[in-house]
Amino acid sequence: MRVSLLGPPGSGKGTQSEVLRDRLRVPHISSGDLLRDAVARGTELGRAAKGYMDRGELVPDQLVLGMIRERLRNTDCGTGWLLDGFPRTLAQAEALDRLLTEEGRGGVEHVVSLHVPREDVVVRLGGRRTCGGCGRLYHVRFQPPKTEGVCDACGGRLSIRRDDEEATIRSRLDVYDRQTAPLLDYYRGRGLLREIDGTTAPAEVSGRILATLDGHG
Ligand code: AMP
Repeated sequence: MRVSLLGPPGSGKGTQSEVLRDRLRVPHISSGDLLRDAVARGTELGRAAKGYMDRGELVPDQLVLGMIRERLRNTDCGTGWLLDGFPRTLAQAEALDRLLTEEGRGGVEHVVSLHVPREDVVVRLGGRRTCGGCGRLYHVRFQPPKTEGVCDACGGRLSIRRDDEEATIRSRLDVYDRQTAPLLDYYRGRGLLREIDGTTAPAEVSGRILATLDGHG
């Protein structure tokens, strides 16, 4: 199955992706994770992307597209994929369509859009913590680790993402409204959009997403 997950920052894309990856048995491809990895490794891409990411702006389309093209060529993508945080602009969506056509691969089948009001997102992201070791996600209020600051899974240290500071969160939300929200119409017009209320408990949201994907077999 070929699915793309859309939603403003903090709408639960990362959390839902972990569940969907296991249930759909497809690789989870997060453009944000790939970029953070490139920054951590100090690659050319990482060095070019870092400033944009720290400011909460989008990384230029050409850089992100090259990275995604490479990743989709990986053999693990043969049975499908779950894209998380990509595409994020109309130009990226059109380029993805072209890329999949050129390579003779099936196109996007479902675009799941998670809806969460802006103020909820600010609370969610302000409390978000990520394990520096294995990348697992926590929330100080909604999903705390057993020991404060320590990952339950690997014992790694939990940290706050640089772009989760409140001012940066607000500018990331503005970027979403301006650059990513127009994608909803693009996919709605093609009959691919599956809109999901992302405000309830994570397991309930997963259930609804899976039911929708099933229903659109
Ligand atoms: P995320 O983890 O999805 O919230 O992404 C973190 C940051 O990575 C974003 O604020 C952007 O700076 C950058 N980023 C991730 N995905 C994309 C994309 N598809 N296009 C441009 N920039 C992206």
